[in-house]
Amino acid sequence: MNPPDRGKRGRVDTDEETTAPGDFKRTRLGCKDHDEHLGRIRERSLKRLSHVDYTVGWICALPLEMAAAVAMLDETHDGNTLKTHNDINTYTLGRIGLHNVVIACLPTNGYGTNNAAAVAAHMSASFPCLRIRLMVGIGGGVPGELDIRLGDVVVGNAVVQYDLGKTIQDGRFQRTSNLQSPPHNLMTAVAKLQSNHISVPSKMSAILSEMLERHPPMSNYTDRSLLEDYLFDNSYDHNEQFTSCRNCDRSKLLERPNRVNKEPKIYYGVIASANRVMKHGKTRDQIAQEFNVLCFEMEAAGLMGHFPCLVIRGICDYSDSHKNKQWQGYAAATAAAYAKELLSVIHPNETQKKPVIATSFTTDSFRFEQIDSRQTNIKTAHAKTCEWLLHHPGYMTWLDPTKFSQHNGFLWIKGKPGAGKSTLMKFAYLRAKRKTTQNGVTASFFFNARGDELERSTAGMYRSLLLQLLERLPDLQEVLDTPDLVLRYQRRSFAWETQMLCNLFVEAIERLGQRPLTCFIDALDECGEDQVRAMIEDFENLGQHSFETGTKLSICFSSRHYPHIDIQHGQQLILEDQIGHGQDLEKYVRNKLRAGTGKFVEEIRTEVLKKAAGVFMWAVLVVDILNKEFSRGRNFAVRKRLQEIPAKLSELFKDILTRDNENMADLLLCIQWILYAKRPLKREEFYFALVSGLDPEQAMAEWNPEYITADAMNLFVLILRDDLRALHIQGERYQYPLFVALANGHRDAVKALLQLEHSPSKDNITARLEYGRDFAAYKGQTLLSWAVEKGHKEIVQLLLDKGAEIDLKDSKSRTPLSWAAGKGHKEIVQLLLDKGAEIDSKDSSSRTPLSPPFSKSSPKTCRRGDPSCNLPAAK
Ligand SMILES: [Zn+2]
Repeated sequence: MNPPDRGKRGRVDTDEETTAPGDFKRTRLGCKDHDEHLGRIRERSLKRLSHVDYTVGWICALPLEMAAAVAMLDETHDGNTLKTHNDINTYTLGRIGLHNVVIACLPTNGYGTNNAAAVAAHMSASFPCLRIRLMVGIGGGVPGELDIRLGDVVVGNAVVQYDLGKTIQDGRFQRTSNLQSPPHNLMTAVAKLQSNHISVPSKMSAILSEMLERHPPMSNYTDRSLLEDYLFDNSYDHNEQFTSCRNCDRSKLLERPNRVNKEPKIYYGVIASANRVMKHGKTRDQIAQEFNVLCFEMEAAGLMGHFPCLVIRGICDYSDSHKNKQWQGYAAATAAAYAKELLSVIHPNETQKKPVIATSFTTDSFRFEQIDSRQTNIKTAHAKTCEWLLHHPGYMTWLDPTKFSQHNGFLWIKGKPGAGKSTLMKFAYLRAKRKTTQNGVTASFFFNARGDELERSTAGMYRSLLLQLLERLPDLQEVLDTPDLVLRYQRRSFAWETQMLCNLFVEAIERLGQRPLTCFIDALDECGEDQVRAMIEDFENLGQHSFETGTKLSICFSSRHYPHIDIQHGQQLILEDQIGHGQDLEKYVRNKLRAGTGKFVEEIRTEVLKKAAGVFMWAVLVVDILNKEFSRGRNFAVRKRLQEIPAKLSELFKDILTRDNENMADLLLCIQWILYAKRPLKREEFYFALVSGLDPEQAMAEWNPEYITADAMNLFVLILRDDLRALHIQGERYQYPLFVALANGHRDAVKALLQLEHSPSKDNITARLEYGRDFAAYKGQTLLSWAVEKGHKEIVQLLLDKGAEIDLKDSKSRTPLSWAAGKGHKEIVQLLLDKGAEIDSKDSSSRTPLSPPFSKSSPKTCRRGDPSCNLPAAK
């Protein structure tokens, strides 16, 4: 994503007295009108002014024109944060009379029709409710019948792009330009002002004096007393040696009557526009005659198509070789003054905010099945447990707005698998939600590795967070009102992309103003690592930006101990180290261990707690195991049983799986269902399925769908309240419980299924496997061919030790050796050869392990030991 660009964004000053929630700093420049409507406008804008409140878009080409435009504002608003994410314009926002106006300037040295079009496109995207669009600045006049003088104003009732055309046979240029008219509503207003001026003089001079009063340094924009207005014969060219016309031949000046009234005059007519400067008297007159042109400029033609606007030009030269810059300031000011006068005759009712783009979006487009199933399925904390979190210094610091600089709004709760992070997160989320202020939002997302794609991806997370945010604060739905998004949405193939969602999330947060947002995001490790990495990076930028702009954004993550990904600024809380968490565990064991009282029982409790080492799930499982012994009256066996129980959760699962061998068939079903289950099973369900034991050899066997009958499914699904359809899909995709466990990112199950003894080197084996979205196996791939293809040598060894059939062909008729040779896994090739793998079995394309790799032509065989052969020479 584009990280929030800190340099360009306005800082919200929270200490400003006038800053209301969602408001931004406003500087009064002074204004005179106090009618009722103005009062209402002010009231509204004090409450909150958003991008839809701006109905007048005003574009300038040059900084000096921008200065004149800004000087016309009765009030400025500081709100560049209102623009869309990829908008590179810099805006000045403010009010003129009853209108909220947004002003933008073309980039320095970036004049011309194309630049104008780009600026206009961004402005329209960021401010979808613009009803009045103005292009205001300076232009070159055409002296002629109308006696246009420097400083006068030309209002374009039509625009023509005169450089459009083709060169025809005799080398002449034939223009193909058409006249383009401004929008009807603007022409109506222009007509009204034009008719006013028949009886009442223009207010332009008054507007200019008022401007000077407010901005005394701008006298060069209002004072024309020292400016000279020379008009030379169109056949007399300026001597380019000189910058001014001081040395030009005065005898070539055209004689014009003196104007008694120095007030600028207003002319209405055709404005000629092109990407080239008009500075030649004869050409000027020739084109002017062709189209009846009053003024030449360089931007309007780029706007009329996408940004239908009224072009207003103050005349600063005569479009001939004598042009110079003397008059530019004054001409820019008269044009701006005309624009201001025009706005005064347009009633705001005519510009009431109606988004120009009717959006077909609703927040429903973010919704997906199971959007909050994980959160719902996490068991609510046991009575009074988790309370400690609310008084934890780290947690309190995180929520303390005065300490944001310490953590940029981030808290990261880490803990071992099964420690109880999700339960704690749900508790914290529900408490925070209960305490949410009227203005604030509390949102959550709980990743679920065993869920659908969206349940375990950051795209799903953004969709869920956006849904919660935009439903709670409907005004933020404005982020959906961008032409780009609406266009995409109208396409049939529309699908939310992570980047798009991330941008929308950032934009929504930028519109929060002073309203606080708190997010709880659980189980980052259940999402693909690359996605999490990108998301954390985006959030860090967002956190930094929020801190700088005073946005109250607080994010709480939880995950396993995640060595590779971290944030630079943030509070961290290790769950198993917390005294409060230990006390919760103790309370649980005290309440649930049904062993009565006595010193012996106290000792057992202490030992359980010590061995649990903060892992809640371990304690839950062990308490149940011990209760079984107690209930049989076998108190004597309890201590020994407890000593035997492995301290590691994954080992405990394995122990539970292998201990009891009764009811094997049922339990095989159970373990398979657990692995295939679409939603995570409740802890008790999981235990229920696991605790009776399972033969691991059987668990490694291929799943036979005929074995699991519809009745058995229905029964089990009834218990699990699960989604049958989704189970089918997963079942079809992967034939082995191990594959399902890998695809679901279920590391403990993978370890249990592979029967890996606890040792660091064996831990490395499972660490190197691909989990979740990274896992891939094609349809019909066998366990051994998968391990071989991916180059997992230890697992190949393990499977062979367990008696995997070495030459078993997969659905592509390839043997493990064929895969190993094809992929160039030399050590595995050797391993398979040592175990007696067949070297010339043919696959479906008649290739054998001896076929040279990567040859797509007719399969050949190479000799063992050849450089091109992946099989070593026979011993
Ligand atoms: Zn000259």
